[in-house]
Amino acid sequence: MTHKITILPGDGIGPEIMAEAIKVLDVLQSAHGLSVAMEQAPVGGAGYDAHGHPLPAETLSVARSADAILLGSVGGPQWETLERHLRPEQGLLTLRSELSLFSNLRPAILYPQLAGASTLKPEVVSGLDIMIVRELTGGIYFGQPRGIRQLENGESQGFNTLVYSESEIERIGRSAFEIARKRSGRLCSVDKANVLEVSELWRQVITRMGDEYSDVELSHMYVDNAAMQLVREPKQFDVIVTGNMFGDILSDAAAMLTGSIGMLPSASLDCNNKGMYEPIHGSAPDIAGQGVANPLATILSVAMMLRYSLNEVALADRVEAAVGTVLDSGLRTADIASDGMQTVGTTAMGDAVVAALQ
Ligand code: NAD
Repeated sequence: MTHKITILPGDGIGPEIMAEAIKVLDVLQSAHGLSVAMEQAPVGGAGYDAHGHPLPAETLSVARSADAILLGSVGGPQWETLERHLRPEQGLLTLRSELSLFSNLRPAILYPQLAGASTLKPEVVSGLDIMIVRELTGGIYFGQPRGIRQLENGESQGFNTLVYSESEIERIGRSAFEIARKRSGRLCSVDKANVLEVSELWRQVITRMGDEYSDVELSHMYVDNAAMQLVREPKQFDVIVTGNMFGDILSDAAAMLTGSIGMLPSASLDCNNKGMYEPIHGSAPDIAGQGVANPLATILSVAMMLRYSLNEVALADRVEAAVGTVLDSGLRTADIASDGMQTVGTTAMGDAVVAALQ
């Protein structure tokens, strides 16, 4: 079966890191029986420059027809003065909502070889492997009404609405339970049920679903405690499921436990497991064009794509193992090198992963 993949290199270091991810897909085709049809399209600043819009109609249509989408990164100072709806990041947000990518998977994995890169003690984080499942298209970021209004006393008042319907909670819950099943079978649902009615409903729905997934060990935690536990003893977690805003904050904290932004992939899935895969970092304008960016987050995004959208689990394992082999060999890009270590550039790192896969 040939998988249709849309490739969106984007801006800044996006095209550089994407070139290495494509090399990985190529070697999986030539040496490991994968069959993919790749089509590239511009998005973000590149979309604006080519077609006057950060999400050109043609790009959206190509992405709609694909089995999965691989994205580099978008953004850069040259587009920051554009009107808000024309800025690169809007292209990405529109793509996520147009394709109903409601389930955001953010792994925080710390390769034992990189334990020194974290700000926490190596014994606290070495071997860390958490998956945060964040609801991405609902909650307080989208709830209506919202705005800034004038009160009678002349004071301004800002307001937002936190809403989750049963079906929205069930949808993200199912996504998380299924993922927990494929991992160690432990799921922690994070809410603020002691204060918020929305969270009370969240907890009811997730608890009810727990009966259906009796093979998954379900626990609940308040978000303030979860934030504390993430830095105190992060390895107690396997899969965490939570709403949009709590997930936004906790997943950034978890990512930073690993200390290496250039290593972390992410996925955003719809209800049929079609997904968009991207590194969690941005377009790094400060190092774009220098050939020094770490391509491993994008290569690990390929592994996630193989696992979650293309059902090529054995190949996903192979790519992740190849990254481990390369790290074992001592190869480092500048962002993950400890003091005194020799570093390699983007292309050499990509080549090393390809060699490990051959
Ligand atoms: P950033 O993630 O681009 O960069 C933060 C720091 O990390 C920089 O010092 C950068 O050099 C470094 N870095 C990032 N990726 C790296 C890699 N692969 N290898 C080595 N070093 C790496 O965040 P920022 O500087 O806040 O944002 C830059 C631009 O990216 C902005 O326009 C922002 O809007 C955009 N952005 C895009 C996305 C996305 O495409 N999903 C996400 C975040 C930020």
